[in-house]
Amino acid sequence: MLEKTETIDVDQVIAEFETVTKDAEKIQRETLKKILEENGSAEYLQNLGLNGRTDPESFKACVPLVSHSDLEPYIRRIADGDTSHILTGKAITTMSLSSGTSQGKPKFVPFNDELMQTSMQIYRTSFAFRNKEFPIGNGKALQFIYSSRQFITKGGLNAVTATTNIYRNLQFKSLMKAILSRCCSPDEVIFGPDYQQSLYCHLLCGLISCEEIQLVFSTFAHSIVHAFRTFELVWEELCADIQEGVLSSRVTVPSIRAAMSEILKPNPELADSIHKRCSGLSNWYGLIPTLFPNAKYVYGILTGSMEPYLKKLRHYAGELHLISADYGSSEGWIGANVNPSLPPELATYAVLPNIGYFEFLPLKQNVEDQVLYLERKPLGLTEVKVGEEYEIIVTTFAGLYRYQLGDVVKVMGFHNSTPELKFICRSNLLLTINIDKNTETDLQLSVETAAKLLAEEKLEVVDFTSHVDVSTDPGHYVIFWEISGDASAEILQECCNCLDRSFIDAGYVSSRKVNAIGPLELRIVQRGTFHKILDHYVTLGSALNQFKTPRCVGTANNVVLQILANNVAKNFFSTAFG
Ligand code: AMP
Repeated sequence: MLEKTETIDVDQVIAEFETVTKDAEKIQRETLKKILEENGSAEYLQNLGLNGRTDPESFKACVPLVSHSDLEPYIRRIADGDTSHILTGKAITTMSLSSGTSQGKPKFVPFNDELMQTSMQIYRTSFAFRNKEFPIGNGKALQFIYSSRQFITKGGLNAVTATTNIYRNLQFKSLMKAILSRCCSPDEVIFGPDYQQSLYCHLLCGLISCEEIQLVFSTFAHSIVHAFRTFELVWEELCADIQEGVLSSRVTVPSIRAAMSEILKPNPELADSIHKRCSGLSNWYGLIPTLFPNAKYVYGILTGSMEPYLKKLRHYAGELHLISADYGSSEGWIGANVNPSLPPELATYAVLPNIGYFEFLPLKQNVEDQVLYLERKPLGLTEVKVGEEYEIIVTTFAGLYRYQLGDVVKVMGFHNSTPELKFICRSNLLLTINIDKNTETDLQLSVETAAKLLAEEKLEVVDFTSHVDVSTDPGHYVIFWEISGDASAEILQECCNCLDRSFIDAGYVSSRKVNAIGPLELRIVQRGTFHKILDHYVTLGSALNQFKTPRCVGTANNVVLQILANNVAKNFFSTAFG
């Protein structure tokens, strides 16, 4: 049966967005009212004594701020099969597995039809703006999408990643075809049980349809870079498959083989052309437009913890435009990228005031002692100030009320009366030993600075993470690097010193000076170590396209720490601080 393609009236979608953002405060009140009316019978809300009130003031007075751990007992009961109205007015029948990469284990979060509808709204909105500036025609998309392992909870509920929940939905499929165009890979590849085999076939399908590909997509930049790094290793095998019309024996899953046999036919001319194009490249610069000459852009989340992959992505994309996808989480969507022509470094997300109720906890920097503290008075969506940073709190249609997502955002401006947010970092990813506080962004900046020394040797940092080692006295920062080749001990020692000097937070600098924090340690891990970490998360239920490398690995995450420890090839301690 042919799947339908949704028709999107771009002008109407933009007009609707303009309307809801013009009076964002009123829309927020209405949205909260709707959420609380739909879920008024939920035990959680009943116990808090709202008694049917739906205004923001009563809501804030009765309902506390919570984090995932506060809601875990409720979520656990749902997962265990309790079908009473626990968090929502209708029983939850599906769970999403959020990546939970920082905590080391995936978390369950409720998923329902309303969340599905908000996903569609956000996708339609950003598409409308994107298509105005970068129109796509009737071609195909190379989409690096994968399904996650399916869990059945104790109570019999399906639990997969939110993206898998979304990709499986028929209505969504028809929308995806409209906004991303037809995926060049068959469903058997997307939903295959082995992501490496799926990735190989995604690449193969892309090459077979290379003239028709209009865009390259994955949820996060990491999996696009991962895909083309893999391409560098397997391209000749891919060409051979096209030449002979026979799928490589590395693909063993029968359903994938069967589906690919429908697509793969001997095409020596195409194989030869791809071979020539690849051989003509210098260090794979411009690989994506070389393979897909009609591609208009590369699309995926490119901000936040994806920024470290931008350099490599730009290298592969050459002159092709990079557009960051929207901002959301398994818990719920937040904002759409309505300025697609901005480079990813400047990308912002305009909050959609009718997809949830949003609050913002100011995150102030106390200049005197350089300690970050939270002023516990959340502001409403339209009360935030340009230039300020906040921790975001969401209330969703899927049973989360005043839920601290753990993300820090900065208000960059307003679209009508709704704020445009820049994603800053995860709030809990702090390297801290005593009075020092370094965020994910601080770590990223230090790594970028030190990696410049490697670039002089034509080497790059493939991936990185960190750990606070307090098993020694004094404690010290440990940075793990996987690099693309062999660097001399001298260069690595310089990188290590540079990393140490590049953390400029006053708490860190003063502690280092008096040796209250010991010399920074750079541990170089063997090639493939971060693949092993990815494999570990995939076994836990994460999907490749939702994977984010944990940038700080705590002692609770002992499996990942063990993988890192087992793969250390060399280590260096910084010398001569100050
Ligand atoms: P997950 O838990 O797998 O659903 O991932 C959700 C998290 O991914 C969010 O809380 C953010 O930390 C991050 N994220 C999602 N969208 C973006 C974006 N556009 N830019 C940066 N980070 C994002």
